[in-house]
Amino acid sequence: MIYVLQHKKLRVQRPQHLKSLIPSKDLVFGRQFTDHMLNIQWSAENGWSDPLIQPYGKISLDPSAMVFHYSFECFEGLKAYKDKNGKIRLFRPDMNMKRFKKSAARISLPDFNGEELLECIKELIRLEERWIPVERGYSLYIRPTLIGTQESLGVNSTGRALLFVICSPVGPYYKTGFSAVRLLATTEYVRAWPGGTGDAKIGGNYAPCVKPQIDASKKGYHQNLWLFGENDELTEVGTMNCFVLLKNELGETELVTPPLDGSILAGVTRDSILSLARSWNEFKVSERKITMPEVVKAAEDGRLIEMFGSGTACIVSPIEGIYYRGQNLKVPLDPNDASSQAGPVTRRFADTLLGIQYGEIPHEWSIILN
Ligand SMILES: *Cc1c(COP(=O)(O)O)cnc(C)c1O
Repeated sequence: MIYVLQHKKLRVQRPQHLKSLIPSKDLVFGRQFTDHMLNIQWSAENGWSDPLIQPYGKISLDPSAMVFHYSFECFEGLKAYKDKNGKIRLFRPDMNMKRFKKSAARISLPDFNGEELLECIKELIRLEERWIPVERGYSLYIRPTLIGTQESLGVNSTGRALLFVICSPVGPYYKTGFSAVRLLATTEYVRAWPGGTGDAKIGGNYAPCVKPQIDASKKGYHQNLWLFGENDELTEVGTMNCFVLLKNELGETELVTPPLDGSILAGVTRDSILSLARSWNEFKVSERKITMPEVVKAAEDGRLIEMFGSGTACIVSPIEGIYYRGQNLKVPLDPNDASSQAGPVTRRFADTLLGIQYGEIPHEWSIILN
């Protein structure tokens, strides 16, 4: 009998003792974890086991488990927020579930019902309510993970898998307001390529990017600007999507982000920024290829307005400069305020999204859990 994932079957095992909460000021991103985790096993013979919320703890796996050898791993990242009225909120979690299924499919990990999984995750978050910090900008980071656990060194699809979800209380990305980043436009390494896996949130995409990141950091840059192709097309910034606001050659103000051509990770924040920008209808919004020579030319002509990265962790990350093939390119921040660390449009996206996430701006994207 093959079973499907069903939230109605969810059972809860509580720990004997609850951990002590960590003062918000001592939170370090992704280092502290809550009391529980969600665990769901899968096997080719039986399908999905009954979901179990159990005390947070170590996982025991055979050294031959496929995840250790061939990187059968995909993950998601989303946040739970507590609003002023004490309500717990999620931001567009259906998009994370869809992307999770897509990432799993790309590496032959088993499919599941995303709505059922989301119901289990909501129950986990409700149980961890005390861990969700109340201060604005703070949240509970949720990390759904799916790994292949088949005990085998054969490169093949996995007959066993484990889906688990852990939660980590996190602080705001910018503790003291925005802090603009300097990028190293990386020409020596490529993050993703057509036909590759750049559009899947799979572990294998991330480890290879750490060395280039360390190299960039040693040279005094915060992040890599990932390029692709002969024309040095912009793709992503570190593990964020990339946006350029410029006045184009026709004199139109245009917000540009690279298209989802298979090498770009389809960020929930990216999609939200595009939607907001289209609803404002104040400038042209394009998903199109954009190259470094185009950005350099715009900067030289005084047409480059703002640039930023986007992702769940920071919402937006303003960019103040790019080192590109021997040249230091300055990216404008706020023309009316020399001390500002973000341009007005970047700031407006951040404020609007934060307002929606914390329930201050009513919006269908924000889901209430309690
Ligand atoms: C997760 C991720 C993003 C951002 O996605 P969000 O859903 O907005 O958090 C962008 N690029 C890469 C490579 C990522 O892994």
